[in-house]
Amino acid sequence: MSAFDPKRTSPSGIVALLVGRMRRWSSCPLSGQCCCPMQRPKAKSWAGCYPVRGQAECAIFGYEENMLNETTIATFKSSLRGELIKQSDTRYDTARKVYNGMIDRRPLLIANCADVADVITAVKFGREHKLVVSIRGGGHNAAGLSVCDDGLVIDLGRINYVHADPKNRTVLAGGGALWGDVDHAAHAFGLAVPAGIISTTGVGGLTLGGGIGHLTRQCGLTVDNLLSVDMVLADGRFVTASAKENPDLFWAVRGGGGNFGVVTAFLFKAHPIHTSYAGPMLWSMEDAAEILRWYRDFIGKAPNALNGFFAFLTVPPGAPFPTHLHNKKMCGVVWCYTGPLKNAERVFAPIRKFKAPALDLVGPIPHPALQSLFDPIFPPGLQWYWKADFVRDLSDEAISLHVKHGALLPTMQSTMHLYPIDGKASMIKKTATPWCYRDAKWAAVMVGVDPDPANKEKISNWAKDYWTALHPYSAGGAYINFMMEEGDERIRATYGKNYDRLAKVKKRYDPTNFFHVNQNIKPAK
Ligand SMILES: Cc1cc2nc3c(=O)[nH]c(=O)nc-3n(C[C@H](O)[C@H](O)[C@H](O)COP(=O)(O)OP(=O)(O)OC[C@H]3O[C@@H](n4cnc5c(N)ncnc54)[C@H](O)[C@@H]3O)c2cc1C
Repeated sequence: MSAFDPKRTSPSGIVALLVGRMRRWSSCPLSGQCCCPMQRPKAKSWAGCYPVRGQAECAIFGYEENMLNETTIATFKSSLRGELIKQSDTRYDTARKVYNGMIDRRPLLIANCADVADVITAVKFGREHKLVVSIRGGGHNAAGLSVCDDGLVIDLGRINYVHADPKNRTVLAGGGALWGDVDHAAHAFGLAVPAGIISTTGVGGLTLGGGIGHLTRQCGLTVDNLLSVDMVLADGRFVTASAKENPDLFWAVRGGGGNFGVVTAFLFKAHPIHTSYAGPMLWSMEDAAEILRWYRDFIGKAPNALNGFFAFLTVPPGAPFPTHLHNKKMCGVVWCYTGPLKNAERVFAPIRKFKAPALDLVGPIPHPALQSLFDPIFPPGLQWYWKADFVRDLSDEAISLHVKHGALLPTMQSTMHLYPIDGKASMIKKTATPWCYRDAKWAAVMVGVDPDPANKEKISNWAKDYWTALHPYSAGGAYINFMMEEGDERIRATYGKNYDRLAKVKKRYDPTNFFHVNQNIKPAK
């Protein structure tokens, strides 16, 4: 770092320094990104020019030999098979966008990695230049944890290959694959991997946080179906983690998020699921309390092959929804039965008998079609704000509060989901993976969504009020992938007794907390 301090250096000293470093100004790599008065003449004081966002010093006062300059960046760029995107590139604004339109971060560089070698190079580059580094899988994280300000984004989007192996019933997916890629490749062999309910979500973030979806009751969480990962660690080493190799690391990545390294490949166990009997059933909002009480009692006793998540929603104004229901606030259950199709009508008979739904779109559906059913309602770029909790019991009192807040859905795309996490997911020991709420019955999420940034407060306030009312009835922590940036206490509550073990693994594999743009687990002391 330059020893220049404008408060202690005499005016003549300043001039000497400026003259001495004149040549460097023109090549300032941070040009336009810092508060340098030479670049931004309206800046009030020079003192604000250094250090520039903790990365390096301003070009006016010189910069460290190892800081970013055009040559270093050019060398980095030429060592990648993929693309390196700078702030001055035309692709920059598109490349820095994530799924949640509320997130507006400006990284210095985006390394669009093409392969593992690129990832190793990017990790080493980030480390050498002391950059804040974020890892981007599918970019779906609501808190925007795949993109950072002023640092380096390691974007895995190009590493999106998927190989389905019908003989061994496994699926290998690149670290930047999306679930739609997996569904497509596996379906050709009549296979499916438990995932989330939107096909544009990244395999990376969803898996590393746990993974809840239509197959949870039948097959467990996504992490319960993970067989091994390939990873680039904070020191640039490439390792495989599985039950046999680096088992402590394998334990940690099955729920501990992107804290331990960049996962470049995921190997999953796949299930013989081709066509399920699935879809939404909707009922009037006036019946919500009755439906929710019935659902609570029904789902826990249902066979594991039947999944159904409860939702408050507004019916979208378009096909396949009948016009008389358009824009109506309703409650519903999105079912997915993966047992033999010939038994489906029998399984659904008591459901349909309980109360005839206002809309029943349940029927045979190929798995990838189910997985992408809701994609059109939630295109990228909407404003998202969500709050979550794990739930053990749904008391009548809690149900009344759900109905009260569910009826206040602030916008068409806002919703509340109660995802069942019992069945197969609850048969795994609490300490077998970091996911310690194996005894909880639901993961609840209040999701405020809207295309208009002007409605940011409206959707956030609704989600916060709803959550505040229901939180006292919750189990404590929340699904890490349904959280915004909510602080250490919430993260600890989520991992419970498994937190200390995660911190120890973090210390072993990432002692300097190099990977901290995530729901961060601090290395143990
Ligand atoms: C519309 C929508 C629907 C959703 N539905 C579900 C659902 O049904 N079930 C469910 O479980 N979740 C669901 N989620 C939540 C989802 O699991 C998280 O948003 C998850 O973080 C998305 O993963 P991603 O790779 O797209 O995220 P990103 O934003 O790319 O990354 C999220 C975090 O994971 C890390 N990360 C991502 N990939 C890697 C990697 N390869 N190696 C290391 N770290 C990595 C990132 O650094 C970051 O910290 C949904 C989210 C949205 C927006």
